[in-house]
Amino acid sequence: MKKCPNCGAEVEPGFQLCWNCNYSFTENKVLDIKDSLDGDRELDCLRCNVPMIFSGNYKFHEGARSGVLGAIGEMFVNRESFDLYTCPKCGKVEFFAPLQ
Ligand SMILES: [Zn+2]
Ligand SMILES: [Zn+2]
Repeated sequence: MKKCPNCGAEVEPGFQLCWNCNYSFTENKVLDIKDSLDGDRELDCLRCNVPMIFSGNYKFHEGARSGVLGAIGEMFVNRESFDLYTCPKCGKVEFFAPLQ
């Protein structure tokens, strides 16, 4: 265990960020990580410049690798679920692996 110089919390040696106050051991300061935990992204459709809408979480399962999703399933063969974003203007759909 190492101690956070900012708040005194005990931090696992492998972590570069204090779990309590977001102190960064690599940058020697408290990071301002706003909204980093809710998993939401602010995305603009590259074509339309309008915000894309979060459309839910899509789960892949056995047998999903057919039809139109086949190519995507192969690309992300090791992933299980994705956040789905849709452009309300042109209907473009984007998949993102959920933030950990
Ligand atoms: Zn701390
Ligand atoms: Zn669009």
